[in-house]
Amino acid sequence: MVKELPIFKGYTVDERLKEFRRVISHEEGPSIEFIPFDSPKGQELLSEYRKQKIHVDEYGEWTCLCGNVASEDGFFPCDAEGNSVEPTPQEWTTNLYRCDRCHRKINQATGEIVA
Ligand SMILES: [Zn+2]
Repeated sequence: MVKELPIFKGYTVDERLKEFRRVISHEEGPSIEFIPFDSPKGQELLSEYRKQKIHVDEYGEWTCLCGNVASEDGFFPCDAEGNSVEPTPQEWTTNLYRCDRCHRKINQATGEIVA
């Protein structure tokens, strides 16, 4: 299964490779710009990326940054790696939800995008 990666400010966010990347079009053809998370520019982008929050409306309904809502692809309790877990105190220790469309992880209490 190909996992769809989040896009932020035109960059694909790859948590696994720890880099932002985007395709830049030139007349002679496209090239790919890589920005590692641990570079100065990467740190800047990453802190902005982490500050994003999902939209919570007056009824407490969530809308993810990707546009997903609970009644469409939904949100599922997950562990720190983003794996689905049963919402029991034993299994679900992270208080994180995963968007099932873009796989962003969301802090249930604050609505912050964690990864
Ligand atoms: Zn999403």
